[in-house]
Amino acid sequence: MLNLIIFGPPGAGKGTQSAKLIERYHLVHISTGDIFREHIQNDTELGKKVKNIMASGQLVPDSITIEMLEHEVKKNPNAKGVIFDGFPRTVPQAEALDNFLQSMNQKVNIVVQLDVNEEELRTRIAERRKVSGRADDAEEKLMKRMDEYFNKTIHVLPYYEQQNIVTKVNGIGLIDDIFDQLCEAIDPLV
Ligand code: ADP
Repeated sequence: MLNLIIFGPPGAGKGTQSAKLIERYHLVHISTGDIFREHIQNDTELGKKVKNIMASGQLVPDSITIEMLEHEVKKNPNAKGVIFDGFPRTVPQAEALDNFLQSMNQKVNIVVQLDVNEEELRTRIAERRKVSGRADDAEEKLMKRMDEYFNKTIHVLPYYEQQNIVTKVNGIGLIDDIFDQLCEAIDPLV
């Protein structure tokens, strides 16, 4: 069982690389952003709760996010492994994930960090804005998301660095080259 976290700021390419990783390693992809968007689309109770929070670029409260995440993991009891994309985004979320995995005799095996500078992120999201239709890709919402990242999510990194499981990869360059670097870090674990 391989539990992999793909980590990086909005626009770092987590979704793009996750799609390639799933194919190669046959992992279940759990993207908390995608799941929240699905709930909003289907107008579920959870979707109603998180719609405005998400549209404003803020983080959804930990309690809601953690509950949803655990539910998603439990839905896939036979998974070969999981890619966590967009989770954890706070230290309490990281602690909750550790406890949850421990209760199933598992752990986070590797955190791959996509390193991309802020200027490049802004350029990428400005491009994505034209096609994504995402309310939170608007300029002022993006600023809020970056704030959330640099105030809260960035602290998740030292949490895992202490465990010696972080591999940092340059997230600028050709998609396939970045993918190759990720595979180099992951292959020894599978
Ligand atoms: P991006 O990484 O491009 O910002 P995501 O699709 O991962 O986008 O997330 C979009 C939004 O979903 C976040 O801004 C936040 O409102 C909500 N969200 C996703 N994952 C989490 C999480 N782990 N904790 C809190 N909120 C989350």
